[in-house]
Formats: sequence, C-alpha cells, structure tokens
Amino acid sequence: MRILVCEDQPDLRRSLGRTLEGSGFAVDHAEDGMEALKYGLAEPYDAIVLDLGLPQIDGMSVLHRWREEGCHTPVLILTARSRWSDKLAGFNAGADDFVTKPFEMDEVVLRLRALIRRSAGQSSAVLTCGPIRLYTSEGRVSDNGMPVDLTPQEFRIFTYLMHHPNRIISRQTLAQHVYDRHSERESNVIDVLISRIRRKLSVNVIQTVRGQGYRLTPPRG
Ligand code: CA
Repeated sequence: MRILVCEDQPDLRRSLGRTLEGSGFAVDHAEDGMEALKYGLAEPYDAIVLDLGLPQIDGMSVLHRWREEGCHTPVLILTARSRWSDKLAGFNAGADDFVTKPFEMDEVVLRLRALIRRSAGQSSAVLTCGPIRLYTSEGRVSDNGMPVDLTPQEFRIFTYLMHHPNRIISRQTLAQHVYDRHSERESNVIDVLISRIRRKLSVNVIQTVRGQGYRLTPPRG
C-alpha cells in the first residue's frame, strides 16, 4: 500500500513519512499544493494525507481539483482548525476523514488503514483468506494463528492482494502500490517477492494468471 503525504512543514512531513514507512507503507511526499495536485493525479495512491494550509494552492482547492479530475483516492485531511464549518466544507469537497493538529501519529495510521479498507469495499477490520488473516488495524498477518514475518515490500504486496481478493492484479499495478516514486522498479522483482511470500505461507493463496498477473484466491475445500 502506498500513501501520498502533502504537508509543507518539513518536521511534520518527515515524521509522518517515518511513521507511515514504519507501519508498512510506501510513502511519497508533496511539499506544496502544486506538487500535491500533480502527484495525486499521476499515481494510484491507496490513500492521501492532505494538510489544508499548503503554499501555492491550498489543500481544499487541491482536493476539489482531484475530485473534479476523477481521482477518488481516500483523503485524510490534517487541519489546525476544528471548526465544524471547516469540516463540513472539507466533506463537501470530497474528504473522507479528518484529524485535527496536534495529533497522535498512531491515530493517523489507524485512520488511514480504515480508509483504505473501506475504499476497497472491506467492511471487516480482519481480512481472511483460508487460514490466513490480515489484521488491518494492527498491520499484521497470521497463518493458522501463527505470525507471518513479511518484509516491508512483501507486506505491501500481500496487503494489496488481501484487500482485492479474487481479482487479477497486474505486475504493474502491484509495483505501483509497493514502491515510492524514488525506487527503481525492475520488472521481475514482483515475481521474486510473490514467490517469497508463497514460501512463508502454509497454503498457496496467490495464483499466477499467465500473461496477466496474480490473483488471491482462498484455498478450496
Ligand atoms: Ca501547513
């Protein structure tokens, strides 16, 4: 899963980035409204953190433009204001959730995970595939009740597949949700990561669909 953080305050931007990376996300950063607008439209993020007080173009205008241009990525707004009228304007502009500054980093992570889960059409916080479970709020995976130790890249791929079961997902799509803007993307790396994930699970729930990609399917029987 991959997040765009739009925040002009360097310290806050960096600490959000560190926290989100530590929580298993690939993270891109936008420092002003122009970058936010551009990146948000260019890449298929799983969620976006948007500060309202951004230079060049304010956050609310950025959000309006994204929605006008057909970007439906869930957006969590950071605001220094907690006035109801500001929140109402934000929801009208297409925001999905709010946190008011100052906030706990853990709350941002928790809210983002819930936004991502709901936007994927998953109502339960625990996603299940045979004996495998993804606890979305905690960001951990278990297999027959035992913890599965995934690297950050493996975790991003696997959580993306768990959020979108029974669908063919191309290698390109997986790569877009695994790497940030600055990572080098080699075409065969996804295949390597998938085979590593398979080796760590007691059942094979990731099918290869020749020439198309991968599909998460619960084991039969
Ligand atoms: Ca700001």
